[in-house]
Amino acid sequence: MRKIDLTNFQVATSETARDINRRIVLNLIRSHQPISRADLARHSGLQRSTVSVIIEQLIDDRWVTEGANGHVPRGRRPRFLHLNQERVGIIGVNIRPALTTVALADLDARFVAQESLPTARDSEQFVTELGARIRNLIKVRPEITYEGIGVSLPGRVDLASNRLVFAPNLEWEEVDLKTPLEEVTGLPVELENAANACALAEVWLGRQSEGVRNLVAVTVSEGIGVGMTMNHQLVRGSTGMAGEFGHITVVENGIECRCGNRGCWEVYASNSAAVRYYAQSASSVRHGRAGARSLGQPPVFEDVLRLAEQGDPKAMEAIEEMARYMGVGIALLVTGLAPDVIVVIGEVTRVWDKIGPLINQIVKSRSFTHATTRVVPTDPATQPRLSGAIALVLQKHFGAPSVA
Ligand SMILES: [Zn+2]
Repeated sequence: MRKIDLTNFQVATSETARDINRRIVLNLIRSHQPISRADLARHSGLQRSTVSVIIEQLIDDRWVTEGANGHVPRGRRPRFLHLNQERVGIIGVNIRPALTTVALADLDARFVAQESLPTARDSEQFVTELGARIRNLIKVRPEITYEGIGVSLPGRVDLASNRLVFAPNLEWEEVDLKTPLEEVTGLPVELENAANACALAEVWLGRQSEGVRNLVAVTVSEGIGVGMTMNHQLVRGSTGMAGEFGHITVVENGIECRCGNRGCWEVYASNSAAVRYYAQSASSVRHGRAGARSLGQPPVFEDVLRLAEQGDPKAMEAIEEMARYMGVGIALLVTGLAPDVIVVIGEVTRVWDKIGPLINQIVKSRSFTHATTRVVPTDPATQPRLSGAIALVLQKHFGAPSVA
């Protein structure tokens, strides 16, 4: 049970009940579509007349639309309801250190259009370019009502100032992305750390979310991020910085991290770590290596991963070393948080059949509470970071309202 916060509460008005029922009906349509009014009444326990009033309103607002007639043995054929996919567009932005993706999704979070731009080193230049891209995307489809823009970031956003305050892998100064993007597009902008966005993507769109109350998302890329939803709610901490497990020490006096500390988890378990392991072991046989990008260029993670997939023993060794450290940190999450499920997001999941058993073995040997936590990879094809950006906007309409 949640304690009532006397510094931040909302009393129930007659609007409150209507809003809650509307959101329940909207969620039932989302998960059971196409669905008749009668079935909505049955699923919700609301009166048929109440359901009809809510549906009329949702149709008026163009959130819901009526499709084909249903088939019933006798009597009037019901009209089936579904979300109005053509009506609503949500824009998702996934910012990564090298490349940023901009996409348009419908209400079912299906991507309708998608494009990429290089992530400029200069944050101001980048915001200008991104704003122009989004405006073009909107201009091409004037028939759509745009609900907002969700942005997934490899960093942390200060909850009060909306400025990006901690993004060691992005090398930007503190920057306000929200205000200039809202000004140039006229749409509300939601910013979220990539790992939190991935956790939300799992909660709202994922295959692992059925019956799951406590879910942890671990994003493995240039760094490591952790997003936690406990009891269906994102854990942010008092400053919005909760989840920085990538920067807890796993090796005392270890290698220096970009954050300034030494021996951080992400220094040993991220993509960059695997590249380092590979470079160390392959340095003696570097010449003429099939995986090197071109002569003289150091390998990037994609090279190492591809070599591992092709069965190169040194590349596989590097990936396994990375996986062992992934296991060390995941064991800590299992012991400390005991979630229902931990989802792992990142390119490295392409070799999950090789690293999954290794990670699970380490978790098992290190965590005495491991029994019920499942550790599972996400399919990179589902674009979890970008889906998370869409989920940021979706949850504003489908999430439970906070009262009391
Ligand atoms: Zn660190």
